[in-house]
Amino acid sequence: MTSLRAGAASDVGRVRTVNQDCFVVDDGLWAVADGMGGHAAGDVAARVAVETLQGSYERGAGGDALVDAIRRANQAVWQRARADSALRGMGTTLTAVAAAESDGAERLVVANVGDSRAYLFESGELSQLTADHSLVEEMVRAGELSPHEAAGHPQRHIVTRALGIEPDIEVDTWIITPHAGDRFVVCSDGLSNEVADRDMARVLREEPDAQAAADRLVEMAKAHGGTDNITVIVLDVDADAGGGSGEAASDRTGGAGGTVAGTPDADAPDATSTGLPVISTRPAPSDEAPASALARASRTSVSTYRRPRRVTFRVALFVLALLLVLGGAAYFVVWYARASYYVGLQGNQLVIFQGRPGGVLWFKPTVAERTDVTTAEVPHRALGQLDQGMTEPSRSAAHDYVRNLVDEYQAENPAPTTTTLPGAATSTTTAGATTTTGAHP
Ligand code: MG
Repeated sequence: MTSLRAGAASDVGRVRTVNQDCFVVDDGLWAVADGMGGHAAGDVAARVAVETLQGSYERGAGGDALVDAIRRANQAVWQRARADSALRGMGTTLTAVAAAESDGAERLVVANVGDSRAYLFESGELSQLTADHSLVEEMVRAGELSPHEAAGHPQRHIVTRALGIEPDIEVDTWIITPHAGDRFVVCSDGLSNEVADRDMARVLREEPDAQAAADRLVEMAKAHGGTDNITVIVLDVDADAGGGSGEAASDRTGGAGGTVAGTPDADAPDATSTGLPVISTRPAPSDEAPASALARASRTSVSTYRRPRRVTFRVALFVLALLLVLGGAAYFVVWYARASYYVGLQGNQLVIFQGRPGGVLWFKPTVAERTDVTTAEVPHRALGQLDQGMTEPSRSAAHDYVRNLVDEYQAENPAPTTTTLPGAATSTTTAGATTTTGAHP
């Protein structure tokens, strides 16, 4: 009989005031939930999920039962969020490991929703078992981001699957044959975002005690910034443990030619041959390309869910900045459209308009004043300009412009004397020139 020993630690971290992570270390069941949602909502989501899982999973029942329990946990969080408007939008990740037995062979079932993680540490090497349901990890799987770019990506907190968002949930599962000396780590992203895999592996190599290793990993995450809540479970497969029968032990490296560890359950033919039910909640990835199939499956799954508590302040700041910019732009347009005058024509009359010639956006120019000056009283060369609209910075400047035109015209055509010639149109006679003004009586 395999014996498993667990150590666990959880810490609020160095930045946040509330620990919205929750975990369970129980007989045959280990899980971490990382809640999300404003105020106390994330805390409630994580606790409801963990308590429902703990209450509804029948110990030792295996993968199907674990998935069913996680689905019930999802419904419990979803219903709670619907019932209480203060909790609306809350959700939680959930990564669980459960001991199960099949045909005398012992197995561990790993199940995951969200971006908390399960790792396997074996023969001094650490490998991630779960695949994150996060935007950046999906981009990495699709080849759009390198793992290095993902590590510092500003959107790395966006999860694409979480409990409590929809009435039903897809659950990814893996089935693993435990071997003596194996260590499993289940953690929230407060650890994986702060501590590199190689540092995690170093702690697991150096620290044989599960509780001490969990404590050290939490301390390391805090030392590296501790910007999020940190929760770590270290689960050790004791040295006296075996993988059950020899046949079962050989399953580990049988089948698809790699270790069963880290392979989605649908890829583990050994599990079927030993009678353990294969849990598949999505189309089975092909044996050749599990990673890309996984990426495909994830990308076509539920809609993106953003963690409100991580972005509330930034969103508020962004909205404020956007409003300032839009308000500023609108003010500028109004100012630009209305804060100037121009002199134009209506018929043959010179008119002072407020606005810009032709208008700006939906601001059409309006008549500010009709002068008593006609085109006959200004120099002919100014007519083109007046036709286009002569812009002036103020109403009085527009007045000055009209007066200047009249003055110029009178300077060029001084003191007219009007004579009515018999049988002719009205003529204005000036020194040596006659201009017919019959068109403008
Ligand atoms: Mg977290």
